[in-house]
Amino acid sequence: MKIIIIGAGISSLTLAVQLVKDHHEVIVIDKNSRPGGVMALYQENGFSFEQGPLLIGDMNPEEAMYELLKSINVTLPTQRCDRGLVLKDYRFIKPDRFEGKNWRRELAKKYFPQDAAGIDEYYRFYEALMRIRFLSLQKPSLFNKLKTALTFMSIRKYQHMSCDEFTKALFSDPDLRAVYTGILADFCVDPKEINCFSIPFVNAETAFDDRIDIYDHKGRQYYPAFNYVTGGVQKIPEALAEYIEKHGGTFLYNTTVTKINIENNTAKSVLLDNGKTIDADVIVSSGGAHEVFYKLIGKEYLTDEYDHILQNLHRMEAVFMLHLGVDYDPMQYQKQALVYYYGTSDLEGATYRLRNNIYHNGDDGFLIFIDSFHAPEFAPEGKHCITIYTVAPNIIKDSTWEQKKEEYAERLISLAEKHLPELHKHIVFKKVITADYYKEYTNTDFFSFGGLVPADGQVNPPHKTPIKNFYFIGSQSESNGGITPTSSGGYKVYDLIKSTNLK
Ligand SMILES: Cc1cc2nc3c(=O)[nH]c(=O)nc-3n(C[C@H](O)[C@H](O)[C@H](O)COP(=O)(O)OP(=O)(O)OC[C@H]3O[C@@H](n4cnc5c(N)ncnc54)[C@H](O)[C@@H]3O)c2cc1C
Repeated sequence: MKIIIIGAGISSLTLAVQLVKDHHEVIVIDKNSRPGGVMALYQENGFSFEQGPLLIGDMNPEEAMYELLKSINVTLPTQRCDRGLVLKDYRFIKPDRFEGKNWRRELAKKYFPQDAAGIDEYYRFYEALMRIRFLSLQKPSLFNKLKTALTFMSIRKYQHMSCDEFTKALFSDPDLRAVYTGILADFCVDPKEINCFSIPFVNAETAFDDRIDIYDHKGRQYYPAFNYVTGGVQKIPEALAEYIEKHGGTFLYNTTVTKINIENNTAKSVLLDNGKTIDADVIVSSGGAHEVFYKLIGKEYLTDEYDHILQNLHRMEAVFMLHLGVDYDPMQYQKQALVYYYGTSDLEGATYRLRNNIYHNGDDGFLIFIDSFHAPEFAPEGKHCITIYTVAPNIIKDSTWEQKKEEYAERLISLAEKHLPELHKHIVFKKVITADYYKEYTNTDFFSFGGLVPADGQVNPPHKTPIKNFYFIGSQSESNGGITPTSSGGYKVYDLIKSTNLK
């Protein structure tokens, strides 16, 4: 069978690996010159920067991304890594000497003594959910079911609470609430819109200190962990693409699909920007949901139901990002590769601003990632690479990114300078990246940095579409952001193709 896959991001590559294993003819088409989509590095003037994911989950044995690579006989060297968190008046930066897995709990109690009981209750809730997660990954057994049920009983009273209700029930201080829910603003989701059971998973304690043991007494991985891929996240798509090519798959880079041709409600071929048409038995597309269905295909081919889902999609917004080459060592000031600096604890307001095209000018917060922390080779000798970014709307009210980008970049550098003194003076390379850059790079009119907003009740566009032989994958078909959920779409579509097209 001949299958065309549009886009060479992680979802497409995951799918292509499965299909070439079955000896299908696979053609992957991407407008960029390399595989990986946003997982590819940005490289200029001897500097390399991550333009997408920084720390990634699921890279340990038996976890999804590790197993995907293992299935093609690749093991990539990785390093455990973590992130710090700084609020206006509070610093959750891992101590120089390891103080045990509960140091954040104790620090939180020191900062917010009036909420000590709520903090203890939060960590009881946290451990219960981590236990349920662990049990769900074990071989199903009656004993495990029983343990899961008993653990669940201990936190059942919270099951219908939103993050907002839960943190308000436990913590009186808005800053403390932001410690555990601030990350939601990045996902463009208001804490009122998402169930509280998600909190521990976006705040795994192991993500804040790479020295916390993730294994239980039997050597089984108990807690999730985050890793940095040595040499950059790009190593993952490179390894997958190499395997696909070695097994007969073809990549057409620097090529954009401008139309998907449909006949008798069946996907038949794709039209390329060079005027060529390629036929296929099955076509799969990643990319923007609206762009794929309304521009490449056409609304007339959709059912009312599918159209309704697309019209009601909540997509995360974009990012405003600076890549800086510097001639001093930023690690003298920031001791972790990645630190989030929160400017506000008003997450409802931050989400409102994002959704209403109001750029917060760095005031709501930003992160500083030192790309060369784990990868000194990313910068020329004696230099370092820093990526500073913040979530930002796709379009800005009353102006354009092009008009404002330099002013906004200066402001972000000034804010970052509070944490990396004299930053301005040491910049030897600067690249300002706006939503417009990402739109061009990902072939979208609306750039959504992590895909769909993980709000309760969100209905994702099904991978199986109303058009015969046409499937949709990628971050805008999944609502959990992140590489692994996006990659999982590749497996799901593979199963659908097998069950529908290969019957
Ligand atoms: C700034 C940022 C930070 C992130 N941080 C993390 C993180 O820390 N951890 C994590 O797990 N995830 C993170 N993510 C999310 C994760 O990286 C993405 O969700 C995932 O990589 C998207 O994969 P995808 O398969 O949807 O393809 P994408 O990476 O979106 O790539 C799609 C590709 O298809 C191409 N394309 C689209 N339409 C066409 C067409 N018509 N013709 C030809 N080519 C086309 C695009 O140009 C692009 O190259 C981050 C993302 C960003 C942007």
